[in-house]
Amino acid sequence: MNKKNDYIQKVIDIALKRNHGEPEFHQAAAEVLESLRPVIEKHPEFEKNAILERIIEPERQIAFRVPWQDDSGRIHINRGFRIQFNSALGPYKGGIRFHPSVYSGIIKFLGFEQIFKNSLTGLMMGGAKGGSDFDPKGKSDSEVMRFCQSFMNELYRYIGADTDVPAGDIGVGGREVGYMFGQWKKLTKLFNGILTGKGLDFGGSLARTEATGYGCVYFCEEMLKDRKESFAGKTVVISGSGNVAIYAHEKATQLGAKVVAMSDSNGVIYDKHGVNLETVKCIKEVERKRIKVCSEHHSTTKYIEGCSNIWNIECDIALPCATQNELDEKGAKELVKNGCIAVAEGANMPSTPEAVKIFLKSGICYGPGKAANAGGVATSGLEMAQNSQRLSWTFEEVDKKLHQIMVDIYKSVKQAAEEYKTPGNLVNGANIAGFMKVARAMMAQGLV
Ligand code: NDP
Repeated sequence: MNKKNDYIQKVIDIALKRNHGEPEFHQAAAEVLESLRPVIEKHPEFEKNAILERIIEPERQIAFRVPWQDDSGRIHINRGFRIQFNSALGPYKGGIRFHPSVYSGIIKFLGFEQIFKNSLTGLMMGGAKGGSDFDPKGKSDSEVMRFCQSFMNELYRYIGADTDVPAGDIGVGGREVGYMFGQWKKLTKLFNGILTGKGLDFGGSLARTEATGYGCVYFCEEMLKDRKESFAGKTVVISGSGNVAIYAHEKATQLGAKVVAMSDSNGVIYDKHGVNLETVKCIKEVERKRIKVCSEHHSTTKYIEGCSNIWNIECDIALPCATQNELDEKGAKELVKNGCIAVAEGANMPSTPEAVKIFLKSGICYGPGKAANAGGVATSGLEMAQNSQRLSWTFEEVDKKLHQIMVDIYKSVKQAAEEYKTPGNLVNGANIAGFMKVARAMMAQGLV
């Protein structure tokens, strides 16, 4: 293709130029845009209406100061973000991340991915993401509460049950959502579904905590079924030991698999008899300690320093559930060499572009994050529906709907990959299926 007339390359260049020093966003944008080549050929109206130039530019970006005091009275200043990326399909929706690595590029890549992920769920949700470079690790509950209150003191101006509904992500779980909800209520006098992932006593949905991990396993199960395979009797490794990783372990185990390894940002625990889930839950959800502590409770559990070592462990199925770019080319080669048959991403963009190439070339089942981890936001959508109706559904009802949504996402992603002549390439399938609905809605809503 003549580079001068290459619309896709032109838009990638705009993304690079306009978002200087934000490599994670460049990576996410380039992947989606490259997948859309055949779509643009078939639909010249998208180029004529500058849909791609519009979709890579957030509708609104908010950055703000978050001052707070620690327990000794010292003052700290963090930076908060909310990037409202695209509202073609509904109110903005997407999590909030508290992690020292957070800056505009991370929030932008996550918000961009969220547009297509939310579209895939079939629910009415636009894409957004927020967060702060605050590190909740090692902070007392009071410090976390004061930070969350200060964060909400600014954020409340931009969100609302029909405008923008944030949720959790790395470093933001039930505790943080509760503190932010309390402050929202105090500032606005309103009690409505402004955040998802709330406690069950005040509007949270059953199965939301489990949803991303369960959903990832449901998606993987569909990929495996197509190869006449299942989780039963398989060996699984799961990176991370947070919300997504824990419930991926729970569901994979329920389906008859054995999870032999998990990790945190320091290292890996390995147990050939299976990692004890109750111990992991207690250490991570209650005590908020390091994963290494698991090896002090079980003599068969070994601790290995260095988180990337998890990909050297032999397994049938790998579920990266920690963070972006945690699985590189070397890790991907190791997995394929050791006979891994499926990779489903619980985390957002955990595989580097080089790792993704290895998976696609090898022909193993590969489920990209924006499809495989969409169960979390889908169940947040179900929480919003329950809040609007002032009703609570049972765990079984929500789980059944989640399961069906994941089956439907797999079908639509697989079908889009086939329709655009790259059968089995679920990266293309997810990007195309997610994009088509958003693009059609943007066209119908005019130049806004
Ligand atoms: P949590 O904060 O609950 O857990 C994150 C886990 O990942 C922690 O165990 C953390 O360890 C670990 N971790 C971080 N960096 C690394 C690394 N380099 N190698 C190994 N482990 C690491 O976050 P979530 O479980 O909620 O989120 C995990 C991923 O899933 C993120 O990419 C998130 O965007 C994505 N996601 C989450 C959804 C949700 O509903 N929560 C929905 C969709 C996607 P440590 O304690 O050392 O930092």
